[in-house]
Amino acid sequence: MNTLKLGWVGLGNMGNPMVMNLLKAGFEVTVFNRTKDKEAPLIQAGATTANSLKELMEKCDVVITMLSNDDAVKEVFESQTGLLSKEFLGKTIINMSTVSPETSRYLASSCNTHQVHFIDAPVSGSVKPAQDGTLVILVGSAIADYELAKPIFDALGKVAIHVGNAGVASSAKLAINFLLGLNLQGLAETVLFAENNGVSKEDMLNIINAGACGNGITNIKAHSILNDSYPAAFALKHLVKDLRLAKEAGLDSPLIHPLFNSYATAEKEGLGDQDVMAILSSLKKKH
Ligand code: NAP
Repeated sequence: MNTLKLGWVGLGNMGNPMVMNLLKAGFEVTVFNRTKDKEAPLIQAGATTANSLKELMEKCDVVITMLSNDDAVKEVFESQTGLLSKEFLGKTIINMSTVSPETSRYLASSCNTHQVHFIDAPVSGSVKPAQDGTLVILVGSAIADYELAKPIFDALGKVAIHVGNAGVASSAKLAINFLLGLNLQGLAETVLFAENNGVSKEDMLNIINAGACGNGITNIKAHSILNDSYPAAFALKHLVKDLRLAKEAGLDSPLIHPLFNSYATAEKEGLGDQDVMAILSSLKKKH
């Protein structure tokens, strides 16, 4: 039994399986989600609920947020009944959502004003690693705070890499998602080029995944490409957000601009709530 009392805000595609793993590891977890009915499966699995974010802070030692974007996270921290609605001496908040490095530094400073420790801890890995407890966790915080949170990270991921202070982990997350976007854009373009020249997508995916160009993500996405079905594990709109944040954080390389435009176009075409691999559907229409 882990003695830290945990609170969790945000039960979307990632939050739900992550909380399940904390419960399995023996943590006492209180959950809070804007859409209340998403709490039901976790309450059935042993979690409790709180009536407000303020109550969550009062009940818990450590509160973790896993929310869509910068605005959602700021709202949850700063609203009148939010996580920072008063001073909470010695408590810790861990933000695992992907937000800008600037927002992470801002949240660290707001927490400091409210006597709360802050850990910037975005994750690399999607729903399957979240379910399997094999996420890669990028940590920006004081070392003592990282050490306090280590048992939590051990239940959620295969490794937690401390990269510096708050903000640095968010920069690392934007960098790895740039590579993710490049990988999936490249995979989609390759499969479509091959198909247009008489190579079946089955054969092309086998060629990719049997050779040195195959990797974890090309393997994971093969199934959805073969079925031409893209239910969201990582929603395309979230990658558009991450590429936009990377640009705003100074990424100005030859590939970022066409890459951002490609995913942003797919979002405008109505694919934002589909999985990021739906970039292939968008490109298929054009080529
Ligand atoms: P998601 O399925 O879209 O869930 C978003 C969560 O945020 C939901 O619980 C939603 O509440 C809540 N939310 C949104 N706006 C809110 C607001 N204004 N106030 C309160 N709650 C709000 O997202 P996800 O896929 O779990 O991703 C969460 C974060 O992790 C994102 O930053 C994403 O970029 C990052 N991430 C995702 C993946 C992935 O593969 N999915 C991988 C790594 C990192 P409702 O239920 O009420 O809508």
